[in-house]
Amino acid sequence: MKICRFNDDRLGLVEGEDVVDVTTALEVIPTTGWPAPQGDALIANLDAVCAKAWELAESGERLALYDVVLKSPVANPTKVIGAPVNYYAHLDESQEDEGVNFGREIKTIDHYGLFLKNPTLVGAGDGVDLHFTDRRNDHEVEVSMIIGKTAKNVSYENALDYVGAYSIGLDMTVRGTEERSLRKAIDSYSVLGPWLVTADEIADPDKLNFSIHVGDEERQNSNTDKLIFDCKKLIEYGSSFYTLYPGDVIMTGTPEGVGPVKAGDTMHCYCEGIGKMDVAVRAA
Ligand code: MN
Repeated sequence: MKICRFNDDRLGLVEGEDVVDVTTALEVIPTTGWPAPQGDALIANLDAVCAKAWELAESGERLALYDVVLKSPVANPTKVIGAPVNYYAHLDESQEDEGVNFGREIKTIDHYGLFLKNPTLVGAGDGVDLHFTDRRNDHEVEVSMIIGKTAKNVSYENALDYVGAYSIGLDMTVRGTEERSLRKAIDSYSVLGPWLVTADEIADPDKLNFSIHVGDEERQNSNTDKLIFDCKKLIEYGSSFYTLYPGDVIMTGTPEGVGPVKAGDTMHCYCEGIGKMDVAVRAA
């Protein structure tokens, strides 16, 4: 099932080129007092919401996808987790490009571990507001996992049981010498979309083609079968450091082809089994 958040926090069921408004399915989410449980309430109750959405599919108002503004399908993650240098071909280009490495030796995820991005996600329809336009601002397209239930010290074998959904991530990055967690946490630099696809629709997340074009130019095109830490390993490793909560997002890393964007560009992202999303780039 493909579920989107659109316009003013409406919930949609995506069917082909249409969105069916199933916002009333959100009524199955239990109300909580303060403090709310850690994590995103939609994702924590995703099975029940999807069951209700399915009931509403016939009667809900039907809209054209191109007429709605797509927001991030996860509203309140506790963490957006990044996977640095998780493809060897991206290691190679980073070692050769001074605009990426700034004179530093670049290693792989085995050396760096993980990092945290700003958890205030934006959606495809929000677009990216460029900051620090005197510096290089790069796209990094990344297949992204949305954690479905609380996970701590999860084994490699059981790791995918904890994935609730998949989506496409953009780990937007201003290049420079500061910590990754700063350069990749600028407002609007964590994009998730265009919707979520429930985990049952993705047979193997480590065999997905994905790509990004900027305008007509193909920049990145790879497959998750080339990940250094595959999807299961990222969950096993991450959950050994911190508890993963429903709605936490793991951006699995970017392949070769990272490059700059400028105001006025449109990024066209694609992932097999998920779909396409177009993301506008603007001056902040
Ligand atoms: Mn990245």
